[in-house]
Amino acid sequence: METLANKIAIERAKSSKIHDVDFDNLSFGSVYSDHMLVCDYKDGEWSAPKVVPYQPITLDPSAKIFHYGQSIFEGMKAYKDENGKVWLFRPEENCKRLNKSAERLAIPQIPEAYFMEGLNALIQVESDWIPQNPGSSLYIRPFIFASGNGFHASPANEYKFIIACAPSGSYFSGKVKVLIEETYSRAANGGVGYAKAGGNYAGQFYPTKLAADKGYQQVIWTDDNTHEFIEEAGAMNVFVRINDTLMTAPTSDRILDGITRKSILDIAKDEGIKTEVRKISVHELVKAAENGSLKEMFGAGTAAVVSPISGFGYHGKDYDLPELEESYASLLKQRMTDIQYNRAEDKFGWRH
Ligand code: PMP
Repeated sequence: METLANKIAIERAKSSKIHDVDFDNLSFGSVYSDHMLVCDYKDGEWSAPKVVPYQPITLDPSAKIFHYGQSIFEGMKAYKDENGKVWLFRPEENCKRLNKSAERLAIPQIPEAYFMEGLNALIQVESDWIPQNPGSSLYIRPFIFASGNGFHASPANEYKFIIACAPSGSYFSGKVKVLIEETYSRAANGGVGYAKAGGNYAGQFYPTKLAADKGYQQVIWTDDNTHEFIEEAGAMNVFVRINDTLMTAPTSDRILDGITRKSILDIAKDEGIKTEVRKISVHELVKAAENGSLKEMFGAGTAAVVSPISGFGYHGKDYDLPELEESYASLLKQRMTDIQYNRAEDKFGWRH
């Protein structure tokens, strides 16, 4: 039987850029590998994906991506273990979420086989680009955007699905100080916050810059209605530890259903850590910071895995978090990365 994998054409780059890359000093997401996967949607169907040399794309100025922001993306990583074997972490979850985002943005669904087999084909071609240094990985960026033309505010009739890769070092270095946002919102009820839509991130840049001007590296997003409950940490889900209980906000219309978030909840439970998925008020956080029961806060996402928070600002006042010898953040990060890099048994069946 002919599978899709046999149909994925591979056009190899004439020369490789790999020798120009300093793999010992990689930043995050700023150098790109030699190839990308491309798949076009036209006349109501997706063409077979193909692997082609990484290259610029030509678009008409009326392409709807430019005007109406019909664009969605994913973020995932390929890891190389000590023996040079390559692993992905829960890739089918990224595929599902991409299609959830697609539905919300009126973008056609990408067949799971195109995503998974296209991804496998690309990663096989790019395996030399997956760094082996500790903490490094090949960051993978699948995205779909409206390439079809027209100044009419309606969904495009043509789209491009692309997967590009960037060998990357770790995302954040060190702890971050965050500002609890009281004015701006990342997402609203009935909106697109649960989708990985490009515009969600554009909307974060300005408030994040204002916070940076005040000396904070990230914003803690609160609910759009009351600004009383914390929801996300920049482009990560947010976790809080009060005494020995680890908490995170429930997913909703306004919160991205993070793959790291749900994996961390499972690992924490497996470690015997008490977890709660519930609304966390800023009032509760401030009180816990004041009485010393607030032990940790961290962001969780594919890029950084776990990004510890050193303190938060709220209402013009700064609250510091303690330095812990044995933090949940470091334990959970260790267990996550041990699974991702094939250093430990994968009892959850997440490695691919
Ligand atoms: N929230 C937002 C807004 C994000 O952009 C991301 C990154 N995809 C996350 C949370 C974390 O999701 P994941 O763990 O799947 O990377």
